[in-house]
Amino acid sequence: MNQPRIRILATGGTIAGSAGSAIERGYRAGEVGVVELIKAANELGLARVLDGSQVSAIGSQDIGWQQWNVLYQSIASEMDNRRLDGFVITHGTDTAEETAFLLDLALAPTKPVVLVGAMRPADAVGSDGMRNLANAVRVASDPGAAGRGVLVVMSDQVFAAIDVRKAATSGAEAFRGFPRGPIANVTPTSLDWFGPAERAGRGAQFEWPAALPRVPILYAYAGMDDADVACMLAGARGVVLAGMGQGNAPATVLEALARAGVPVVRSTRVDQGSVDRNLEVDDDAFGFVAARGLGPAKARILLQMLLANGVTDPAAMQSAFDRR
Ligand code: GLU
Repeated sequence: MNQPRIRILATGGTIAGSAGSAIERGYRAGEVGVVELIKAANELGLARVLDGSQVSAIGSQDIGWQQWNVLYQSIASEMDNRRLDGFVITHGTDTAEETAFLLDLALAPTKPVVLVGAMRPADAVGSDGMRNLANAVRVASDPGAAGRGVLVVMSDQVFAAIDVRKAATSGAEAFRGFPRGPIANVTPTSLDWFGPAERAGRGAQFEWPAALPRVPILYAYAGMDDADVACMLAGARGVVLAGMGQGNAPATVLEALARAGVPVVRSTRVDQGSVDRNLEVDDDAFGFVAARGLGPAKARILLQMLLANGVTDPAAMQSAFDRR
């Protein structure tokens, strides 16, 4: 039987990081190149044909439009290549959820696209990099992973891009899903999906834009006032409020946002929970959009994608957030 063929797109992060010592605390992200990653993966005997390309070698706190554009173009242009069965993106964990969600919005779910990171550098004791990479290759090789959108594999679990969040700053089990938890469990030799592929046969949700508009995130805090809003909004085409609780902010802040003249999406600074329309804040009166289950970082990505695709009507925006 032919072995599955998987393309690895390497961007950097701890999965390609080295500390120079098994017990050293610091590390340098992105030091292990894609050739070395593939060599190490091949030594595991995964029975896959791996090839790769080096998109960048950076910590994911520095990821942005340039890398996202290369990732999108590299995958979209090869999605129908019959000689490839799936894609694995190696990535830092800090912004894994943003890259995964942005690509999820724009790629057709035709073949598996799996983003994977690590919490411990390659040369650290208890490194999780090869475990996670082997698991990611396993998922990317499974035809049953298609039709689920972009997936994130960490610590023997598979998350959908829409749900996944980095929920801890350290420790190998740092990722959680919300509102759904993991959608599968994985090891290099087993993969158990918990439900059907809901997006099988569907196309991409959005056109890939030529650029993404400026959309800041405004983090709400006690004592905040309208002057803080004015500082943040220079040049903004939209704004996401990382509000308190159910997407709240002081009345003066809500009023300043309503006057800002750009779309406003209310999300929450709280780890879990949905922000619902008109519950505590009168979204109808203010003209706001409720982020529902998306946290601020992903609410920002969706708002950017909507704006870049010419969607500015609050009702149309709300229905895009309601579909999440
Ligand atoms: N801050 C770096 C990044 O996101 C390292 C964190 C990690 O990969 O776990 O790339």
